[in-house]
Amino acid sequence: MRVLPLHNLVALIFTFFISLPAANAKNISVSILGGEDLSHFTITIKRGNYSLINQNTVYTLFKGNQVVIQRGGVAIIGDTIQFKITNFKMLGNDYVNHFEISNGKIQVRYDDHLKVELYNGKISLINEVDLDRYVAGVVEGEAGYNLPLEYYKLQAILCRTYALKNINRHASEGYDLCDKVHCQVYHQKCQKNDIIKATASTSGLVVVDHDLELINTTFHSNCGGQTCNSEDVWLTPVSYLRSVKDSFCRFSPHSNWKKKMTRNDFITVFTQNEPLDSLSYKSLVTFCQDTARSKNKNLNSVELTKVRSELDLKSTYFSVDIDDSEVTLHGKGFGHGVGLCQEGGIEMARRSYSYVDILKHYYTKVFIVNQRALLFFKEE
Ligand SMILES: [Zn+2]
Ligand SMILES: [Zn+2]
Repeated sequence: MRVLPLHNLVALIFTFFISLPAANAKNISVSILGGEDLSHFTITIKRGNYSLINQNTVYTLFKGNQVVIQRGGVAIIGDTIQFKITNFKMLGNDYVNHFEISNGKIQVRYDDHLKVELYNGKISLINEVDLDRYVAGVVEGEAGYNLPLEYYKLQAILCRTYALKNINRHASEGYDLCDKVHCQVYHQKCQKNDIIKATASTSGLVVVDHDLELINTTFHSNCGGQTCNSEDVWLTPVSYLRSVKDSFCRFSPHSNWKKKMTRNDFITVFTQNEPLDSLSYKSLVTFCQDTARSKNKNLNSVELTKVRSELDLKSTYFSVDIDDSEVTLHGKGFGHGVGLCQEGGIEMARRSYSYVDILKHYYTKVFIVNQRALLFFKEE
């Protein structure tokens, strides 16, 4: 791919920022409720009206109308319409359309359209949904409630970037993304106006690196005061996932932790059944990350990420304190430490930093662009 000189890039991005309207409405297809029992359930129209298209027949459904799916793959509409399911679509006809899925255990609402398929005796559901409505649903599930608007804007941009970067993940299965942690958790349509507003006001915006590639929008709960380089946790160095100092998360819920264990339980992780020589023992029990993260990826030849998982620690950012029989680990932060520190970002937003400030604090040398501008550059 041709890389534009930076001054041209900035000029063009600026041009697009001021000349483009919101990005084109674009639908995304998300497999929903894959883990739920869909042998028997009801679809209820909650807002707008829908065209249900089965083979060559179209039925119009209004608010309150229901489609009952029975065991054996039979769909029933009202008192008179009944058909065996192979696949059918429900397309919303109004500007805002909602439907609800309920089966006695769950009752969840979605925006826009629905595709119902019966394959090998199993029903699958695909929600064809406007990208921003999907993004708002994801932000509600991932970020939580009562946060500053500016933080919701940041999360919306990151969720949109993630969705577009991973749009081909499930192409072989006939949809774009699943609704689980594997892609992004999407429980249902967004119910919160502030999140919908934050998503709409950043419509079309995505984050790219200096090669105009959509970034990996990785985040964690709390970095403990310093984020990690990508290669300290995973294998590859990534230009925008650099370690930065972070004072904003210092007093947040997950800024500190403490874990006690027997000396034996602690040391076993490092000995791998070999006796520990006195030098190794000393470096182990004096391991200290009080003022900064260790520049080493390992502690006594064991990767810190492995120490974290074996001892079930909240982070790799800890110091060791030992007495005769007991080890106390004094730790900072929660999560892998790469990319956005969520609690630090929330605090920045509370202190009136903009989503651009927050983004640029945690991701190094990245740009926010309109996805339409991006398409233009890539076609060049
Ligand atoms: Zn997935
Ligand atoms: Zn932090």
